Amino acid sequence: HFKSNEDLFTRLFGWGEVEYVKAVDGVSFDIAEGESFGLAGESGCGKTTCGKSLLHLLEPTSGSVRFDGRDVTDPDVRDEMDFRTEAQIIQQNPYESINPRYRVFDWIKEPLDVHEIGTAEEREETVIETIESVGLNPPEAYMHEYPSELSGGERQRVSIARAIILEPSFILADEPASMLDVSVRASILDLLDRLQEELGISILYISHDLSLLKHMCDRIGIMYLGKLVEVGSATEVINDPQHPYTKALVGSTPTVDPDDRRESVELQGEIPDPVNLPSGCRFAPRCPEAMDECTAEEPAMYPTEAGQQARCVLYDEETVNTIPK
Ligand code: SF4
Repeated sequence: HFKSNEDLFTRLFGWGEVEYVKAVDGVSFDIAEGESFGLAGESGCGKTTCGKSLLHLLEPTSGSVRFDGRDVTDPDVRDEMDFRTEAQIIQQNPYESINPRYRVFDWIKEPLDVHEIGTAEEREETVIETIESVGLNPPEAYMHEYPSELSGGERQRVSIARAIILEPSFILADEPASMLDVSVRASILDLLDRLQEELGISILYISHDLSLLKHMCDRIGIMYLGKLVEVGSATEVINDPQHPYTKALVGSTPTVDPDDRRESVELQGEIPDPVNLPSGCRFAPRCPEAMDECTAEEPAMYPTEAGQQARCVLYDEETVNTIPK
């Protein structure tokens, strides 16, 4: 949860000036045990900043991240609950996320060494079992290899093995398949799905790919310019979007399903300058349904009849009743 007004800032360096952008502003959501939650939105909407601040890879200026009921933005709490073992990340680019000087076995074993878990023999056994569990079989054929000797899909399996070796409760999967060949994407996503079910891990998927999120997630949140604008069940948000921005995003996603009757919505204008945000709803300058009421103040999240929450005055009964028919 990141509070409004003094939230997570990104610093921009201009010609001798320093300006701040609220990369994530007033975003609040929860992820249940064993649940998969997706964050979607265009580049620059704040989804990756949000994900990284959950793992404390970025420090929010205010707000809190509660893990198992405890605020892990407090360094003492993080140390006490050994948060580094509880939360892991799978990065987008398997060509950059593995240290090229490590062999597969040593790269996967390193977290066990750092946290001094088990004896040398136990660590070796755990690494071999984990290599097997991510589908690199037989493990002996992979454990002595360097990353440069592996394909993109094999490298991502190594990254997944390293992420699960400490038996975390939470994983941030940041565009986990976007750098892979189409032919191996499905097998990596299936692997994540299977491991999540077997190990009961909560996963936060970050992706611009709505089809992937619909397939992988229980619920998703759509972000626009640092704000969550819609949250709901993954199927409902994509099959029946409520917020005008989600409708546009879903409408612009190609589909091969001949029965898909999604509405195509033309967006006007460009994304506003994040340093000079419009007043009221920040989507107003591009929204096909914008009206005077939209620029008065930032809309809250309202429940919709379809079951989602949407940050739009069209779902605020009080505002809707004042609009002339
Ligand atoms: Fe569009 Fe107004 Fe809703 Fe914003 S509040 S999304 S401008 S209708």
